[in-house]
Amino acid sequence: MRRVINFSAGPAVLPQEVLARAADELLDWHGTGMSVMEMSHRSEAFIRIAAQAEADFRELLAIPTNYKVLFLSGGATLQFSALPMNLLGTEQSADYVVTGEWSKKAVAAAQAIGNVRIAASTEAQGFHATPAQAQWQLDPKAAYVHYCSNETIGGVEFHWTPQVGDVPLIADASSHLLSRPIDVSRFGVIYGGAQKNVGPAGITIVIVRDDLLGRARAETPGVLNYALQAAADSMLNTPATYPLYMAGLVFKWLKALGGVAEIERRNITKAKLLYDFIDASTLYRNPVNPADRSRMNVPFTLTDPSLDQAFLDGARDQGMLQLKGHRLSGGMRASIYNAMPIEAVQQLVQYMRDFEQRH
Ligand SMILES: *Cc1c(COP(=O)(O)O)cnc(C)c1O
Repeated sequence: MRRVINFSAGPAVLPQEVLARAADELLDWHGTGMSVMEMSHRSEAFIRIAAQAEADFRELLAIPTNYKVLFLSGGATLQFSALPMNLLGTEQSADYVVTGEWSKKAVAAAQAIGNVRIAASTEAQGFHATPAQAQWQLDPKAAYVHYCSNETIGGVEFHWTPQVGDVPLIADASSHLLSRPIDVSRFGVIYGGAQKNVGPAGITIVIVRDDLLGRARAETPGVLNYALQAAADSMLNTPATYPLYMAGLVFKWLKALGGVAEIERRNITKAKLLYDFIDASTLYRNPVNPADRSRMNVPFTLTDPSLDQAFLDGARDQGMLQLKGHRLSGGMRASIYNAMPIEAVQQLVQYMRDFEQRH
């Protein structure tokens, strides 16, 4: 077996221990004589798996009891529409902060449902920073304020929590969920797809404060309705059973290594290693304001783009894959999620150093 170093932005690297455990349990989960994939979502065994996953997730993020945790389908993309269907009344408007491609997509989806205001945007400056809180033009009557707390494509991360008064704060945290502690009590809703930092593609986590349940527009489909899904333990229809089981294994892995405080410490170390090297080099460049750089997604360009293909080919020869940047931003991007070991980042930096010396 040969495992490569996979810098994909998502679906992304999973902890090898988790994959090995899933392989061990693949044919016969805990003496049931069947695979988790074959279990009824109503079976006692699967209900135990789901309940344990939720309990571990709650423990990892210290989620207060007045929040529901939903495990839904459709990705963060479907939440771009489900969120306004659940929270944006027909007479209201919602405030959106635009810091990159994902928050732009969230705006476009919400505009199809209801009234949207842009409270702040960094688009004119090229999406290289978070907008200073003092510049936000918030509507105190807004149904909610939405932002993307880690822009996966641009590599811009909020290392601070916006102040929005009594208006519910909503975060698309898809690409840094569980990478750091988060004070859930500051938020109305936090949501994210699993395939960036939590597990395989297929489940979307929605953490919702319970006073926000029950406001959905009448035409909201049941499976998108937070209150109905909460009442049904996220099993209004068949949930993505195997991805939920896998996420549960990732939660156990994270707890065993010391939880989100410990993974944050490791993530800071990994990101610093890569950014410090990029900043000190003359060949590589990261355009993001240093205080707003993502610990998860590190985009960078080569000052001579004619070297891009040689860079990618050389990396591939050393087993380092998926370094090509997003088609919208070009250049390179290294996603270094929780499951990426520091040794892999060290190997990448070593390769980048050698490549720079050769060119
Ligand atoms: C990947 C991503 C999405 C979209 O996720 P899907 O599962 O493809 O719907 C949305 N927001 C952010 C920040 C992402 O990284």
